[in-house]
Order: sequence, then C-alpha cells, then structure tokens
Amino acid sequence: MHKSRYTSSQIKQIVNATGEIVNDNSINILLTDSRRISNPSGGLFFALSGRRNGHEFIAEAYNAGVRDFILKQQPEGYFPEANLLVVEDVLMALQKLAAYHRSQFNLPVIGITGSNGKTIVKEWLYQLLSADKTIVRNPKSYNSQIGVPLSVWQINDRNDLGIFEAGVSTTGEMIRLEAIIKPEIGILTHIGSAHDEGFNDREEKISEKLKLFANCRLLIHNYEQLLDYQEEIKTPERFIWSRFFNQADLYVFSETTIEKNYYLRAIYKGEEIECLIPFRDEASIENAIVCWATMLAMDYSPVTADERIERLAPVSMRLELKNGINDCSVIDDTYNSDIQSLEIALNFLNQQNQYQKKTLILSDIYQSGLQQDVLYKQVADLVKARQVDKFIGVGEALVAHQQYFDIPEKYFFTDTITLIKQLNNLGFRRETILLKGSRNFEFERISRVLVQKAHETVMEINLNALLNNLNFYRSKLKPGVKVMAMVKAFSYGSGTYELANMLQYNKVDYLAVAYADEAVALRQAGITLPLVVLNTEVSAFEKLTEFKLQPVLYSFGLFEEFVKYVQDSNIFNYPIHLKIDTGMHRLGFEDYEIETLCDMLEDNPYVRIQSVFSHLSASDAAQHDEFTQKQINTFETAFKQIEEVLGYTVIKHICNTSGIIRWPGAQYDMVRVGIGLYGIDAAVPASDASLQPIGSLKTSISQIKKIAAGDTIGYNRNGTLSKDGRIATVRIGYADGYLRAFGNGVGTMLVKGVVVPTVGNVSMDMCMIDVSEVPDVKEGDEVIVFNEKQRIEELAAQIGTIPYEILTNVSQRVKRVYFYE
Ligand SMILES: *Cc1c(COP(=O)(O)O)cnc(C)c1O
Repeated sequence: MHKSRYTSSQIKQIVNATGEIVNDNSINILLTDSRRISNPSGGLFFALSGRRNGHEFIAEAYNAGVRDFILKQQPEGYFPEANLLVVEDVLMALQKLAAYHRSQFNLPVIGITGSNGKTIVKEWLYQLLSADKTIVRNPKSYNSQIGVPLSVWQINDRNDLGIFEAGVSTTGEMIRLEAIIKPEIGILTHIGSAHDEGFNDREEKISEKLKLFANCRLLIHNYEQLLDYQEEIKTPERFIWSRFFNQADLYVFSETTIEKNYYLRAIYKGEEIECLIPFRDEASIENAIVCWATMLAMDYSPVTADERIERLAPVSMRLELKNGINDCSVIDDTYNSDIQSLEIALNFLNQQNQYQKKTLILSDIYQSGLQQDVLYKQVADLVKARQVDKFIGVGEALVAHQQYFDIPEKYFFTDTITLIKQLNNLGFRRETILLKGSRNFEFERISRVLVQKAHETVMEINLNALLNNLNFYRSKLKPGVKVMAMVKAFSYGSGTYELANMLQYNKVDYLAVAYADEAVALRQAGITLPLVVLNTEVSAFEKLTEFKLQPVLYSFGLFEEFVKYVQDSNIFNYPIHLKIDTGMHRLGFEDYEIETLCDMLEDNPYVRIQSVFSHLSASDAAQHDEFTQKQINTFETAFKQIEEVLGYTVIKHICNTSGIIRWPGAQYDMVRVGIGLYGIDAAVPASDASLQPIGSLKTSISQIKKIAAGDTIGYNRNGTLSKDGRIATVRIGYADGYLRAFGNGVGTMLVKGVVVPTVGNVSMDMCMIDVSEVPDVKEGDEVIVFNEKQRIEELAAQIGTIPYEILTNVSQRVKRVYFYE
C-alpha cells in the first residue's frame, strides 16, 4: 500500500556498506528496537550498539520477519534470507540515510534548539501553522542522535513544511544533526541551566547549539541571550525579539495579566501590535513569544498571529496510566493523535500486561499528510500488529474506513458524544484501555467517565525517570553483569505491576520482592521474568511452586523443609537462591555454617542453585569501608566453597544500589538495584542530574484562613504565627503517610515555588501550612510535598529518618498516577 522508498541495494550504496544483497527488498520503515516491530516487511533494522547490544537482537528481529539489517559485523547464526549490510558505524549509517532522504526534498524546514521549550515551541508552531501547511515534525521529543534521523525519515512529498527540534548533550553532536535537518529557518528557545553536565561551561553549550544554524537563512532569537555571541552567528537574516531592547524586530514593552490570560503589547515595524496568550506561567509566556516572533518572521500578519495564538492549547507529551472503573487500567493520551505517537502509545499499551485484554479508543487523525485510505490502512495494520483486542473508532473518517479494521471486537461512532452515551454498553471489564484522540475530539470527557475519581492527593510516578535511572546503573556495570530490580514493598511505595512491567519490557534479569504474595500479584499481572522471594516462609511453599517463584533459602531449617517439600511433590532441580550472612546479621548462613551447607548441597537433585548472594550493611558509608571489604572477602570465600561442591557455576551478587558505584570490584555477576531505581543514591549527589527522582507527592489547598498573631492552630493549640498572616489547610495527613513528626514547622512544602513550613500538629487527613509569604495563593492550588525540587532526602533529614521510609510510608489511600513521555 505505502509507497516504497528505497530498495535494499540503494540503501547499501547510500550508507556505503559491504555485504551481499540476497533479495532486493523495498524499504520504508526504519527499526531500532527489536521489541517494537509491528510491520516487519519493508523494515530495515539498525543494530545500534547502545546499552543493549543491537546484535543480540538480530535473531529476534529476523524471527519477527525483518530481512534487512545494518550491522557492525557479520552476526553469528543462520539468517539465509537476510540482507546483512556491514558498516563501520551503525549510528552514522542511520544518520547518513536520513540525511540522504532529507536531500531528496526541498521543502522549507524550521530547526529548533535551546535548553528548554523546544518541544513546546515545536508543537505550538504545529498548532499555529497547520491551518495552511502540511507539516512533518518530530514525534514527541524525539530530538536525539537517533530520534532526529527517525523523525526526518518521515518526510514525504505531500509535506510543505518541516519542523524539527534538535537536542544535544555534549559537543560534536549538533553538526551531525544539522546535516540531517538542514534547516532554513532557525529558532533558539530559552537557554537555562538544563543539561549543563555534558559541557565545560555555558559558553561551550551555547556555541554547540548555534551550530544548528550554520546554514540557515534566518535565525529567530532573543536579543539578550546572544549578546556575547554575535561573531558566531553567521545567518544572513535575523529576527530578534526582546523585552528590553527597543530596536529589536519585536520589542515587547508591556505585559499584563488578564484573568487566566496574559496580554502583550509590542512594537513591530514601527507599529504597535498586541497578542493575548492563554497561559500565565513564565515558561509558557516565553515560548509563546518565540512562536509570535516566528509567525511574524514568516510574514504572517500580526492580526492572524494574534488570532491563532489566542487559541493555543496546552501541550502534554505525557501518557498517563490511571486506575479505571470495573478493574480497568486507563492510559490517557488525549492531547494529540498522529501515527507516530499512536505507535508510541501502543508500545506502552503492550508493555503494560496487567490485563490480557487490550482496548484502543481512537479518534480520526488530522494532518497526516497522507491520503485517507493510505492513512487508515496503515492505522489498521498497526492496530492489528499490536494485537489490540477491542477497537473503538470515533470520527467520520474512521467510520468511513471501518472495513480496514480486522479486529475481533470493534465499534465505530461518528463523534465523542455518541460514544459517551454508549459507554456503559461496551462492557469494559478487566482490560487496559488506551485513549488516544486529537485535541478537538475532547477525549478528556471519555476519560472522566472511565477513570476512577482520585482524591486530590496523588503520587505521580515518572516512568521515564525510572528508565533513565535503570540505564544510569546499566552504564556503571561491567560487561555481562546482570540486574536484579528490587520491587519489594510495592516497589518502594511507587506501585506494583506498572513498574514491574516497565522493567520487564526493558529486560532486567530478575525481579525481587519480600514476600510470596507480592510475587503472586506480579505473576497475575503478566510478569514472566524470574521472580525471587527474599523472605521465604514455610507457609508459602505451595505458592512458590504453583507460580514458579524462586525462594531465597537462608537457614538449615528452611533449606531442609523446602527440599522435603519439593521431594514430596516429585520436583527436581527447583531453582533457589542461597543467602550468606557476611556481617549484616539479619538472614543468611554464617561463615562457619558453609561447610555443613556444602554437605547438604552435594548431589542434591531436588534443588538447583541459581545464585549465591550476601548483603552489605553499609555500602554507602565511607567510615565502614573496612568492614564492607571484610564482608566482600567473606562472601568470596563462601561462594568458592559452594561452587566447588556444586560442580557448576552460579550467579554471585552482593551489591545493592550504593555498592554499584562505590564497590565496582564487587559487582560479580549481578547487582541488586533498589532505591537507585527510584532516583535516590547516597553515592550520587542530589545535584548530579544523572539520577531522577521518580515520584512527586502532590496535594491541594482546601481552605485559606487569615490568622492574627497569637491565634492558635490545630489540635492541642500547638501552632501560632508570630505576626498576622495566612494559613492554608491541605489535604494530606498522617494517614496518607505525612507523619506527625513533620508538624509544627519541622516539615516544609512547596506552594507556587515557595518553600513554606507546616504550622501546628499534623492531623489524620490534613495539615496546615503557613502561606503568608506566598503571593496570589488560592484555594485549590497545588501543593508539593516532595518532587525533584523538594527532595525526599530533605524530608528524611527534617524528621531524622532515611528516604526509604519516606517513600514506603505513602499510604495506599494515595492514588498513584503513572506517566510516560
Ligand atoms: C532491599 C534490598 C536491596 C536493595 O537495596 P537498595 O539499597 O535499595 O538498593 C538489595 N538486597 C537485598 C537483600 C534487599 O533486601
């Protein structure tokens, strides 16, 4: 159906590869992830060596039907029908191919970079310009060395404008992106301190970003930001905006808030012009000014620019995963709909395995640049390939193309209202529902019906941050070291299957929980990874074998009981893990017990030792390093003894989070990452942005009161203000996990960016904070208990505990909302 673009032999020539063309296929899809192959025919797989070696996934991709590969070397294994094209550098080949593809089109392209606001500006320009242009742009924030070529690859001959953002993390990267994007118009958005780590200083970072504009005709930027960089700007034309410099092309001289909007006046071509922005926060205002400047620079009239900017819609790149009615999960992605972001959302749907049944509610897709029959055939193929069980299409175009959808259960409605009226008749029960709609279909109305009402105190969990943290630890591991992810105690309070599914999808090797019940719940939610139970109990033996869970055995009594149990059940070689106590003195065999243990292991046909491990008592604390070293030595002696009697090698592991970085020599065959996955590690300073806290605990203000100096506040009249002021009552108390110890000014919260103290005692369901110093505070405003700014480590320090306790204390009453960008 779709127009094929290149043949295998053309590709071979473009990327300058060696290797034999067995069949000259036609290629139209670039693949970089073997887990995400929906349309194998026409796919070209790039074995990128990243965190996971792409070459390991060739077999996976081949078995899925892919026949064209770009590789660094000929793979082992037998792939008779494949074109195996070998290049020096696989990433470079991907970029070369994208650059070649770009060179086949002479459409105008806007290139955007900056440290903040790239994605918003790109998405807003898309909203503002798509009335008269067929635009191709990066899906979401695909702006990396891999994301940009994949984005540019989408250009087709119906597009008459490209808008691509480029992100760089270190020097030397922008030149490569420039060669792929080849922008004619450049936009520099806000430069802040974000992503400073990869650069020596700000100057270096800005110079690197400016390389995107090396061959631009026109650059749009803020005056003050580039004052010191005049020499480096080579573009023949510039459009400069400023709030201070009255000679700027767009000089914004007046700014006022009007209710929920922000009103700007400016001088442009000697005339006064105006613009109303439907947002009030600083970042949105600056991004909107950038868009305003861009429209004017592109010769839109001030009136048109104002009219369109006034209708800007918020941009959310998030997919939110929430609890739905009737035991459903709902993935909310109601902001936009195009085929690339549909694909991303379907990947997320497939990754969440808690229910077998997968449902997609999709609206018509606008502005795809494809003919409708081509577009909906592609959508239908994608939906079928991702094994959606139930499809609900909303919109006239979907109704008209319903014959394309070969799905077991399907329904079509002309508009959102008609669907909402029928919602109760569609039998939603124990399924994961993906809601994906274009803005004007207002799918948030569907979401309001399907999502369980959450009380206003929620914990938001950022799944991208979880992935970032996992990859951070992976980058610290020696080659071949496995990862056991610790998801005990509801993943340290952050959730259950949502995180486990994400970790499984990203191929950790083991998951570990404390008790068998936790593991059973994960199995029932679709987790197929090996699951290790740390605190094995005799009463749970049956569950262990029924759900294929792997117990940790830590004492003779337990060992004997378990062996007897499997023997009686006529089971052989049951996988188990042995825990050695090297000084923690909690669970495990002591060093003097190892010999007896070895006798019991010798020729024991009933169990098979998967791993031998121990736990460090103070891996993060320098003052105990000598003790830690002793633990490691004791461990080494013990496992050597054990391996000797077993006659086979086992996985050895001792490092928890802090051990990974502080004791790299003790990584052995596997590490057990716990709190680090959740963004906290005593060995990584909070100022280092490599780790990202994954949770934000948010609540809101139920009431604001004026309080006179000396009035008492809360139970036992413990709280007072030293001068007249205002307090806010917020919807969180000790029953939510906000401990009483935080009361009376010990704890702080964040309100509109201001750190405020508690006043008085914390009650069961609420507490009071002093908001006298917060301007414009209103009832209903959001209050942050912890997030990436008000960090869990600080909260722990306030009440003299550790971050682990703060995290796991957040009670189950507080709804968790997961998001993924
Ligand atoms: C909880 C736990 C871990 C993880 O510790 P972190 O400090 O959170 O990384 C590792 N090993 C065992 C045995 C544990 O119980």
